[in-house]
Amino acid sequence: SKYDRVYNFSAGPSMLPLEVIEDVAANLCNYKGTGESVMEMSHRSKEFQQIIDDAEANLRKLINIPDNYKVLFLQGGGTTQFSMVPLNLLRKSKKADYIVTGQWAKKAYKEATKFGDIKLVASSEEDTYSYIPEVKKDQFRTDADYAYICTNNTIYGTHYPYVPDTGDVPLVADMSSCFLSEEIDVSKYGIIWAGAQKNVAPAGVTIVIIRDDLVGFADEKCPVYLDYKIHVDKGSMYNTPPCFSIYVAGEVFKYLLKIGGIKEMHERDVRKAGKLYDYIDSSSMFKGTVRKEDRSLMNVTFVTGDEALDKKFIAEAKEQGMINLAGHRSVGGMRASIYNAMPEDGVDALIAFMKKFEAENK
Ligand code: PLP
Repeated sequence: SKYDRVYNFSAGPSMLPLEVIEDVAANLCNYKGTGESVMEMSHRSKEFQQIIDDAEANLRKLINIPDNYKVLFLQGGGTTQFSMVPLNLLRKSKKADYIVTGQWAKKAYKEATKFGDIKLVASSEEDTYSYIPEVKKDQFRTDADYAYICTNNTIYGTHYPYVPDTGDVPLVADMSSCFLSEEIDVSKYGIIWAGAQKNVAPAGVTIVIIRDDLVGFADEKCPVYLDYKIHVDKGSMYNTPPCFSIYVAGEVFKYLLKIGGIKEMHERDVRKAGKLYDYIDSSSMFKGTVRKEDRSLMNVTFVTGDEALDKKFIAEAKEQGMINLAGHRSVGGMRASIYNAMPEDGVDALIAFMKKFEAENK
């Protein structure tokens, strides 16, 4: 291809739309005639203010964010949200209810236990997180300050097939690895947050969408950066924001609007993942590792059942320009992360290679 690029199946950081990278490259040294790169630009400049305002407006348009929700562009990655959520939302009973469907949800749960009375409502750990538990409304405490889920479990390749009904208890969702891959009803959540490095931008920015009645409850001892209200009041510019990542995020939002929005993106994602799962299900060598109803469109996990063969597959795929197909170090096997920016050609190439590998290694 034009740039000799590989198909990168990494769980994150991952591929970005080539069109966006090309546009960023074209403006890298002189952003739209400003005479400077966005990398060098003051976050207090009117040019950067326009970049962040457009990014927010386009994100609002893309996923229909209601007016009573604030949008924040923060640093600290997903991991910082694990503590920011309890520090801000444990505001009355100091109780919160967590569903643990993988390592990231478990880390969030553990972090929250430092700050309040945290209940583990359900977990699929006993079955290596290979499914999403069905949790009913009466399993949540009615006086909990919030409930917490991770909607797409990057390491295991599961995705919630439903939105848990938590009644009046605000639902907080980590959507890091499925953000912008499906239409969502923002009004069902108290907070939606997502690290950018999978579907949105280079690492460095974390997007937080928060209902305005949940802002302003951090304790006065809360470190200043960890108080959502500080960032809401200052339009994500209390301190220096991750300017370049915010800029690229904004370009990705424009790109998604241009191709037809989340509906079109989702159709492409369904088609890509559908092909790959269909092949896995028809194969006598490769096996999917999660319950079918709970399969992720973004992270496709599979094994041969033979560790040495898995290793051979991963190594040979790499030689063919398909990189980062190894499963997470904690689970082994294979994981093909096929986020929004993975071209359909990349999935086709992977399937063709799997077929060839299967025929050669019977
Ligand atoms: N949540 C999910 C679903 C993730 O996949 C990850 C990282 O891959 C994280 C949280 C942690 O994010 P970060 O590495 O930005 O702290």
